[in-house]
Amino acid sequence: MAEEEGEEYLFKIVVIGDSAVGKSNLLSRFARDEFDHNSKATIGVEFQTQVVEVDGKEIKAQVWDTAGQERFRAVTSAYYRGAVGALIVYDISRKTTFESTKRWLDELNTHCDTTVARMLVGNKCDLEDIRDVSVEEGKSLAEEEGLFFIETSALNSTNVNAAFEIVIREIYNNVS
Ligand code: GDP
Ligand code: MG
Repeated sequence: MAEEEGEEYLFKIVVIGDSAVGKSNLLSRFARDEFDHNSKATIGVEFQTQVVEVDGKEIKAQVWDTAGQERFRAVTSAYYRGAVGALIVYDISRKTTFESTKRWLDELNTHCDTTVARMLVGNKCDLEDIRDVSVEEGKSLAEEEGLFFIETSALNSTNVNAAFEIVIREIYNNVS
């Protein structure tokens, strides 16, 4: 790819996973450094754009959030269209959300090709005392499926920027 002054990078990244795992809060923590204690369906907002610098290059990360439609198992193909990165999120305090990640991966794979940079995200790692999915379980699933893996807390900010930045860097490496 040509190295030009002022070259623009715009990466579409989708955030998927069961309802209430913290997808919207991961995004609001990343984009605005905000956390919302009340779980409300995001209304009207399709994506947020955050500028990140990689190797001195300005990259616009356009991160898409489901508007709560994952509850109805009806995330549309438009949501996935053009995505070059994905965060597949579960809640470390709810095993069922971890078990669902395989279904989310299947859905991702039917809509996007395998070059999409994919990160398995165990969110709510602040809830150590009611942990229901071990770090090892997360790691080994990620290894099996060829995903990056990280545990995060949107509540206390642990690893939130890192989760997005690792994916963005991988996308950058794929395209440059
Ligand atoms: P979404 O349905 O996946 O978008 O999940 P939300 O972002 O709406 O979060 C669902 C609920 O989990 C809300 O009550 C949030 O306050 C809470 N939550 C989100 N992230 C965290 C986290 O990292 N730690 C804890 N303890 N709670 C979280
Ligand atoms: Mg949400």
